[in-house]
Amino acid sequence: MIGIMGGSFDPIHFGHLRPALEIAEKLALREVRFLPAGLAPLKDAPHLAAQHRLEMLRCAIAGQPLFRVDARELDRQGTSWTVDTLRELTAESPDETFVFMLGADAFAQFKQWKDWQTILQLVHLVVSHRPGHEIDRSQWQQAHWAQDVSSLHNQRSGKILPVAVTQLEISSTFIREQLAKARKIDFLLPEKVNRYIQENNLYR
Ligand code: ATP
Ligand code: MG
Repeated sequence: MIGIMGGSFDPIHFGHLRPALEIAEKLALREVRFLPAGLAPLKDAPHLAAQHRLEMLRCAIAGQPLFRVDARELDRQGTSWTVDTLRELTAESPDETFVFMLGADAFAQFKQWKDWQTILQLVHLVVSHRPGHEIDRSQWQQAHWAQDVSSLHNQRSGKILPVAVTQLEISSTFIREQLAKARKIDFLLPEKVNRYIQENNLYR
């Protein structure tokens, strides 16, 4: 099973990395692929050019053998639709099961995503708790909810598994705000990423 972690990563921080690792261990994933979004449909344009976001991601995951970066959405023109990316990924590895990882805030918007029904035909969803956001089960048929990890192995796609991860109340928005005020961002993200931001004078 392979985990897919999508996001703007503007910048990547411990609130992305730690939940991804905990989910990888809990589900015994053989790989987690971080997919930085080009233009995300439900968000404003990223604050930084794709190349910087990609470099920060590379800094963040260096030395973590389970983690990979997949830059395909950055090479695409226009909006990145998750459904298109997942169609490609699943077609490339037809024998693999994929789980798409997202936080509770992103999950709350999931039914606004383009072709979300198709997404659920391609992959499972793994939803990590995020401070300040509830996972609302009432919007979903009972059959979607996975009881445990093993139910993700019984079928190829269509299950939703909430996972309790270490709660880190960190957001890229908060980090950008701190940088704009010339405050320190130490201990919110990997030191290598912090250094990259300082060296390139980003988010000032
Ligand atoms: P921004 O503040 O710019 O929206 P963000 O911190 O929310 O940035 P995103 O790139 O929007 O980061 O998030 C990518 C994915 O990571 C989403 O699925 C989101 O729910 C999840 N995520 C981000 N931060 C956390 C966190 N602190 N805990 C759990 N999940 C998180
Ligand atoms: Mg966000």
